[in-house]
Amino acid sequence: MFKLLSTANPKIQKGTKLGYLSFILHLAPADLSGKETCPKRTVGCTAACLNTAGRGGMFKRGENTNMIQKARIRKTQYFFNNRAEFMVDLANDIKKAIKFAERKGLTPVFRLNGTSDLSWEKYTVVEGFNIFEMFPNVQFYDYTKVLGRKVSQYPNYHLTFSKADGNDSDVAEALMQGMSVVAVYDAIPAGVPSADETDLRFLDPKGIMLGLKAKGRAKKDYSGFVIRLKETA
Ligand code: SF4
Repeated sequence: MFKLLSTANPKIQKGTKLGYLSFILHLAPADLSGKETCPKRTVGCTAACLNTAGRGGMFKRGENTNMIQKARIRKTQYFFNNRAEFMVDLANDIKKAIKFAERKGLTPVFRLNGTSDLSWEKYTVVEGFNIFEMFPNVQFYDYTKVLGRKVSQYPNYHLTFSKADGNDSDVAEALMQGMSVVAVYDAIPAGVPSADETDLRFLDPKGIMLGLKAKGRAKKDYSGFVIRLKETA
């Protein structure tokens, strides 16, 4: 039904209890497609990327790719090779998603960097309008490791900063700027709100630290990307 977006992520579906339906765009992270989609990725986050969580990380014996990974690479190459058409398809998917969610009595919300870290504010859809300007009444949200993105003029786009191995000074700066920060833990400590409960980060208070539990390859990460409180290598 949708060319680019999906709703298949279990955490995304938890948001429906609060009346929201999240639509997510999964591109190929890092340079898996031959083009870079994560300009501030770290060694640890690249190796442990959420790209390998859930069905995206299930490979047949002896294989190192699957249909999901191939689809993400295909979409990413489409984005880089045919940007204008890609952005129109994305806008059309968003229109369809709005109707889809409304039929279910839910509020549609959109996360375009499911497994990438692109600065969507820079990409024009039509006549100088980016995707946030095209849909000013729709809520968009993302996690990012790119500090200083120029998004304050888009009240419908919420960013949460993402801690990784070696970006502590950016984390401190993000908190100073009033952003919330999410870190990945082997076990989320008491007192740290869980970002696994829902994906609806735009509902969070400003400037807080949140925890995500390590998933996929991140469970075996000892680079410093995952904060290990239970065990060490
Ligand atoms: S964790 Fe984020 S920044 Fe790192 S490779 Fe994956 S999508 Fe890119």
